[in-house]
Amino acid sequence: MTTGFAAIPASGSYRLNKALVPACLVSAEAVASDRAGFALLDIAIEDGVVASLLPAGMPSLDAGHAVDLDGGIVLPRLVDVHTHLDKGHIWPRRPNPDGSFMGALTSVGADREANWTAQDVRVRMEFGLRCAFAHGTAAIRTHIDSLGPQIGISWPVLAELRAEWAGRIALQGSPLFGVEAVADDAHMQAITRAVRAHGDGLLGCVTYMIPELEAALDTIFQTAIENGFDLDFHVDESNDPAARSLEAIADAALRHRFTGRILVGHCCSLALQQPQDEARIVAKVAEAGIAVVSLPMCNMYLQDRQAGRTPRWRGVTALHELKAAGVPVMIASDNTRDPFYAYGDLDLVEVLREGTRILQLDHSGNDWVQSIATTPAALMGLPGQGRLSVGGPADMILTRARDWTEFFARPQAERTVLISGKAIDRTLPDYRELDHLMSTDA
Ligand SMILES: [Zn+2]
Repeated sequence: MTTGFAAIPASGSYRLNKALVPACLVSAEAVASDRAGFALLDIAIEDGVVASLLPAGMPSLDAGHAVDLDGGIVLPRLVDVHTHLDKGHIWPRRPNPDGSFMGALTSVGADREANWTAQDVRVRMEFGLRCAFAHGTAAIRTHIDSLGPQIGISWPVLAELRAEWAGRIALQGSPLFGVEAVADDAHMQAITRAVRAHGDGLLGCVTYMIPELEAALDTIFQTAIENGFDLDFHVDESNDPAARSLEAIADAALRHRFTGRILVGHCCSLALQQPQDEARIVAKVAEAGIAVVSLPMCNMYLQDRQAGRTPRWRGVTALHELKAAGVPVMIASDNTRDPFYAYGDLDLVEVLREGTRILQLDHSGNDWVQSIATTPAALMGLPGQGRLSVGGPADMILTRARDWTEFFARPQAERTVLISGKAIDRTLPDYRELDHLMSTDA
């Protein structure tokens, strides 16, 4: 049992004194923040609920137990808006042969056809959920590989896990398949049935430049409108400036006057456009109300990789420019220990730390923490998540770090995670639990 550094009373009623909270994640009136955007607060917790959020040092009538956090950063539990739980942890039996995007695509496809039974998918997804939970994640959207017989295998597993994890992690699924499959009526009917039976009202696919792109997007948007679905796309995960399916999605959203939520992930090639093209596309994305999630760790791993040549490009989209244009921007985990990303543990503290380094989120405003908290919570339709509010659950991550440099310099391995005011067991699952699924002659 590992519960981190903080000695939390078992009662569920106590005070956390001198908690340093990003003011942009606090729903409370008159929270004064310092130049780095932090508010120093005393947090009263009663029966697992946040009873008050007050400036530190205010006299209190409550004579109960107090935990002195001594200026340590406190975050709400966090929100991971783009993951692939169903691909997770297959690396030992199916590594990426050369670290390339094509190597990832073909390796995962072969592994899916050979090994992805309901039990295999379930055990690996659950392993990922346990990692995320231990790190302090409250909600996850996962993409579900959805081609042929895999649709009937994976979607019922997602529905079971969503029910089993309710109250610990809010789980959403979005279908993943290449955009050329949209032309196949039987495929689209199977997808729509699976989403309606087991899904979360989310439709999407992987978009890239094919001659039929506009017609395929029309079908996707029409299907979403007819069924009341929101949309979630993988977009232009490529270093080819000719990859401009993001603009086609924005055009389609405007053409269909789409009123649901749209999330697009990756959009790597946006960062390689000529300035006038980038500005035009960013403006259309903003006008269409599209939100963008960058996957910095996966992009850094796959993009600009050539054997024997040092990479020149970080692989990430134009996230600062999108934010400046008013686009809701997020960062997320993406893949974990599979051919698309060899590492990763669904730890949003790591994602924010690496995102800060890769995307240079530092020196550019003090509200980027929203990109793993309030912004993805709103996009997922979970407005109570990713923030601390009076009357809300006492779900939070406690650390000893007193500013962002202390926070990012270390992995925060000794953090304490609270759910309803109680410290959870943060023991991570052992990879050896998955050994029975990893035989390479399966
Ligand atoms: Zn992805």
